[in-house]
Amino acid sequence: MAAHRKLVVGNWKMNGLRADGLALAREIAALATAAAPACDLLICPPSTLIAAVGEVIAGSGIALGGQNCHAAEKGAYTGDVSVEMLKDAGCSHVIVGHSERRQACGETDAEVRAKVAAAWRAGLVAVLCVGETRAEREAGRALAVVAAQLAGSLPDGADVARLVVAYEPVWAIGTGLTPTLADIDEMHHAIRAGIPAGARILYGGSVNPKNAGELLSRGEIDGALVGGASLKADDFWAISQACG
Ligand code: PEP
Repeated sequence: MAAHRKLVVGNWKMNGLRADGLALAREIAALATAAAPACDLLICPPSTLIAAVGEVIAGSGIALGGQNCHAAEKGAYTGDVSVEMLKDAGCSHVIVGHSERRQACGETDAEVRAKVAAAWRAGLVAVLCVGETRAEREAGRALAVVAAQLAGSLPDGADVARLVVAYEPVWAIGTGLTPTLADIDEMHHAIRAGIPAGARILYGGSVNPKNAGELLSRGEIDGALVGGASLKADDFWAISQACG
């Protein structure tokens, strides 16, 4: 992927049986093949569909990613997937530290840090998610919380070519709520100051075709991590075209 183009990521989460997922991938690939996308595109299907989606999008220029990984290369970790396995299945990226995993699975910064290091070990780009809860923002602690997450989750010697940070306020995910543009700018500016120069910083949380234009035209925002709206090819495509 080009260094300074924006990046739009589709996180399908735990959605899509084979027929639906492959149809969605086919639609997105057809759109990306018919007209040059205004940004880099990455789709992250559930693990069961990674290999098959990879075959569908081959040659379209769309990158493929996992939604999570284990830090170890292999071993007795029932139900987990290593970065080496993701790479073997065709992935170039992996999302780590999504708030749904931090909250529902109790993932700590130290575990997330080990996963980022594992992604780099295998040559994958880590899409590192950080973000504050509603209570933390209301308490005026958003900047401090995200700074602490970054400090705890980012291994030493960051490889900027293999690092994408996604700022995703927990209270904005799947709620239809978004922070003010000034709050996003402030947070992205703070994140940029705390990570090695050159890494892309995405915004995530209720991005849709209606708000994508004003979000993605901001200089501070290098792209979007999209959940719900990535499950409709036309919406995902419209969001990506807002980068233009
Ligand atoms: C996400 O899951 O990372 C996300 C941003 O979801 P949504 O776009 O649905 O808010």
